Formats: sequence, C-alpha cells, structure tokens
Amino acid sequence: MKNLTSPGLLLDMAAFHALFDTVAAVGCTPLGGLNRVAASQEDGQSRDLVCAWLAQRHFKISVDRVGNIYALLTLADPTAPYVLTGSHLDSQPRGGRFDGAYGVIGACIVADAMRTCAQQQFSHNLGVVIWTNEEGARFSPSMLGSGVFAGRYTSDFALSRQDVHGVTLAQALGQIGYLGDSEAPAVPAAYVELHIEQGGLLEISNAGIGVVEGNWGAVKYAVTLRGTAAHTGPTPMEQRRDALLAAAKLVVACRAISDATFGKLLTSVGRMDIEPNSSNVIAGSVTVYADLRTTDNALLIESSLEFERAASTIAADAKIEVDLQQVVNRSAGIFDAGLCTLVEQVATAKGYRPMRLSTIAGHDAIALCPLCPTAMIFVPSKDGISHNEAEFTSSTDLEAGLDVLGGTLHELLRKPLTP
Ligand SMILES: [Zn+2]
Repeated sequence: MKNLTSPGLLLDMAAFHALFDTVAAVGCTPLGGLNRVAASQEDGQSRDLVCAWLAQRHFKISVDRVGNIYALLTLADPTAPYVLTGSHLDSQPRGGRFDGAYGVIGACIVADAMRTCAQQQFSHNLGVVIWTNEEGARFSPSMLGSGVFAGRYTSDFALSRQDVHGVTLAQALGQIGYLGDSEAPAVPAAYVELHIEQGGLLEISNAGIGVVEGNWGAVKYAVTLRGTAAHTGPTPMEQRRDALLAAAKLVVACRAISDATFGKLLTSVGRMDIEPNSSNVIAGSVTVYADLRTTDNALLIESSLEFERAASTIAADAKIEVDLQQVVNRSAGIFDAGLCTLVEQVATAKGYRPMRLSTIAGHDAIALCPLCPTAMIFVPSKDGISHNEAEFTSSTDLEAGLDVLGGTLHELLRKPLTP
C-alpha cells in the first residue's frame, strides 16, 4: 500500500506558532479576538507581515487587481500546473484569531516545508493565496476576491463595492498598498483550504480532522423598509409608518420560516441599519440583513420566495415601501470526491480520526469549487464558537490540520501530470 505519511516532509511547528501569534497581534481586541476587516490598516499590516515572511523564503509574490495575493513557488518545471492553497486574513469586526488566518499561515508553513524538502520529485508547482474580503463584513458580498478569481464577479464590480462610509474597495486597497496590477495566475490543478470548523460537530464526534464533502446553499438579503420618520410623542398611532416595527415583524417571520422546516433550513437576521436610530424618532427606514441556509436546493428556493412574500405582506400591512435585494445566492454543492478520499486517507495514515461533514459557513473554497478540484480540511472549534472573540482551537488540533494539509499537498504535488 502507498505510504501516505509524507516521509521527508518536515513541518516547522515552532515557526507556525510564531508567525500565527505575530499576525494575530495585528488588530487584536482586548478579549483576544480580532478586528481586522478587509482592506483596513490592520489587514494591510497583516498582509505585509505574511508577504515579508514569504519573500524572505524566495516565494514569487504578485497582487492582482482586487488585492488577492499569490505567492508562487517553483517546485517542478516552471510551465507545470500549480496547486493552490490558502485562505483569508480579513476578519469580522469582533471575530476570532483562527478564522482564515489559520489557513493562510498553515499554507505558508506547509509550502515552505515543500521548498526545503530536498530530493523530492514534484510534478506540480505550488502557490499560497490570500484572498481579499472573504468575510463580507466591510464590503458586500463575501468571498469577493475568490469570486473574481473564479469568474463569478468582474474586477470592476468588486472594486466598486463600498463600505458604510462610502469608501470603495479600490480606494481602501490603494490606501494599504494592495491595489495590484498583476494578472491572476492560471486556473490551478487543485485548491486545498485549511480552516477551522466554526461549528461543533468535530468536537462532539471526537474527530480531529474534518473532510468537507460539500457546502450548504445560502441566500442572503438586504431588505430596506421605508416608512416615515416622526416624533415618537405627538404622532397618532394610526398615522405612524414605523419601519422598525415592520422590521421586527420580518425578523420574526424569518425565524418562523425556519421553524416550519424543523431545522432543515437555518435562518437569521444578524444586522439592522436603523435611520435615524434615535429613541425619540419613529424609525423612517430600516435595512434588515437576513440569511437562509440549507443543504436542500429546492427548499432554499421555496423558502426564499416565502421570505420575499413575507417582506411584501408586512410592508403592505404597515403601509410602507420595501426594497428587497438578494445579495448572495449560492446553491448547495459538493467538493471533489477524489480529493475528499485523499484527505481522509492521509489523515488516517497519519493516525488522526477524520470525519466527513458539510460546511454551513461560506468559504473561498466554495468559490473555487466550480473551477478546479477543491478540498477543505477542517479542525475542531472549541464549543463550535466562531465569528466571536472566544473562538479557539487547541495547538494540538492546529498542528494536526497542518500535518494533514502537508500530506495532502505532498501527494498532489507529486501526482503524475495528466496529458
Ligand atoms: Zn473564514
């Protein structure tokens, strides 16, 4: 039987922890989390740190028009296809240290180990990638950089996205020096992303490694309800056109759509922008951000229509206007079966307990999925907590993930080229 334990590949775990901690200090919050939204000064500093680390180790770094960073390493014939691995460095405003950064730093350490792993016969070259604006916290939609790479969005569309202050992604990237002009590299032979699970299945199942078989579908909305701002005192109740009351009803309706499916569909409203947001003014306008997720594409379509009908009905009853925008529409999908098997076999050969699961959260890998064979490797998140300053993964689990990423890439990089 084939030896899948990647003999000769030495991962420098001390270097991993050192670089991880250095990067985690940029934008860290008092509670040990991270505030490093896309293209912020902190995002720029973390990019600088990782690029400097890679440049010192002779990676060839380029930045494309939307700020995606590629660090390529020639391991084989320079014209040979390359395998890509990486993730993102941006975070939610009060996110955790592990989401994204783990996959970037892990990719750096594993790639560097490939570089120094002499006497190996590689058929492929290797690239580390840092995608722009995966989180979608500052610029919507999420997975923007990887979406441009995959041809889902144009660069112009991505660069024109604005944050709440009207700053475009182009301006923000320019300010941190990452508005590049390089062409993105060609479509990779494969993409492998290492990430924390952001859920609790691995921990509950006592499995150290998650093999991601597919992704949940998601539809996200920005629904703006427009009533009339007025004094909360003298305005008679029957004359009020209260946008916040309508928004509250929409939040409840959104939850009810999930309840009717007995958990098959997950729904939430995590944000509302209220105008003018004063305790003495009936809200004139509220934007409600809702998301619906499930593995069942038919249910997703049906539930989205139900949500849209609910928004119209609630607005009509409250005599207010509604403007509904679908900002994300992602079908449930499956990852490459061959790569799933490879990750599983590598994990088993190295003595870890792999478990197959689907990702509910969005990831750059989902954007890459239609483009090339794609895999994701998950490690446990303590108590399933993520997008939270308390996000935590133990060193043992982090190192196990690196080990499996190393083994998987080691196999892919040596795979005979198909004519
Ligand atoms: Zn992430």
